[in-house]
Amino acid sequence: MKTIGIIGGGQLGLMIAEQARLLGVRTVVLDPAEDAPAFSVCDEHIVARFDDAAALEELCRRSDAVTYEFENVPGEILVPLCERYNIPQGYRPLYDSQDRLREKTNAAEHGLPVPRFAAVDDEVSLRRAVAEMGMPCVLKTRTMGYDGHGQCVIGSAEDLERAVGLTSVPCILEEFVRFDCEVSTVTVRRGDECITFPVGRNIHRDGILDLSVLPSGVSSELCGRIAAASERFMASCGYEGILAIEYFVCGDSFLFNEMAPRPHNSGHYTIEGTTTNQFRELVRYLTGEPLQQPALEGPAVMKNILGRDVAAAERIAAAGGRGVFVHMYGKSECRPKRKMGHITFVGRAAEEFDAVWNDYFKPDDMPAKQ
Ligand code: AMP
Repeated sequence: MKTIGIIGGGQLGLMIAEQARLLGVRTVVLDPAEDAPAFSVCDEHIVARFDDAAALEELCRRSDAVTYEFENVPGEILVPLCERYNIPQGYRPLYDSQDRLREKTNAAEHGLPVPRFAAVDDEVSLRRAVAEMGMPCVLKTRTMGYDGHGQCVIGSAEDLERAVGLTSVPCILEEFVRFDCEVSTVTVRRGDECITFPVGRNIHRDGILDLSVLPSGVSSELCGRIAAASERFMASCGYEGILAIEYFVCGDSFLFNEMAPRPHNSGHYTIEGTTTNQFRELVRYLTGEPLQQPALEGPAVMKNILGRDVAAAERIAAAGGRGVFVHMYGKSECRPKRKMGHITFVGRAAEEFDAVWNDYFKPDDMPAKQ
């Protein structure tokens, strides 16, 4: 029986471990939190910080192959481990994605269309870059940003003054893209074998992914070009394993926004919405099994369950409708904007989804702010 090691025991680690178990594969998970969601399903776990070199080495020793769901594992620890143990995705895709400037530069160098961008290191370079790019534009911290944190839109002189505060850390300035919609791809690659899950449309609320909608409403011709671009990009970079890419769609064209070398929230719909899913294919990649081409089972909508949505999700789970799949991650602390679970609806048109959700959601379940 094979064992895979997972660095990170959040919901992504949990879902990798669930799919591994269905494939008869053992898992060992490392996470600093004693009650990490993945610990309830994995076979073994290690409670340790992500910068604990000895603990990470112990994880590698106990595993036939190791992957990560946490993106900020320090390179000085992971690189030497990649040389001695089987971490087939390696450090490169992680390194390239850890810094937004490096990420966009790398994407452009490997043939993906990207929005105009410039490095910003201080107030002077911010003012210069804004003058050259024009407003509106978007300033983002180069590292540690997620779900819209660490970024601001600059559309006026006042915004510019407010944005100066962000430049205490290295930043990137991007043109403001007037996109029609956002979509993403999840691709798994092993040499000549490469699969991409159906392109989904992502709808955000308050900077956090709210819904993934399949089919995306984007023409199949454009979806095909986007999927092909992701596959070419992975091959050009020499990346192996799993890679998610978010794109902006503008008319008949698309622009790279960001990437993550791990399963992605926008791919959760694949668990029931496609014939094989992102976590399962990652496990198959890690255990050396041939990859399987996914196909859409039917229209699918995935909704993230934040803290304020938990009561509605519980009502939906209790009602037990056909084609409704509720996943709760078992997180101990519930906050209004924390991702607590997700629901996937398969076989219903996207338009029906809102009505179903509104039947169950009561705005005073939990205040949006606490
Ligand atoms: P990110 O963390 O880069 O994914 O940004 C979070 C969200 O902010 C994206 O999903 C977009 O909705 C929006 N956004 C980010 N970058 C830009 C941009 N250059 N132009 C317009 N909107 C953006």
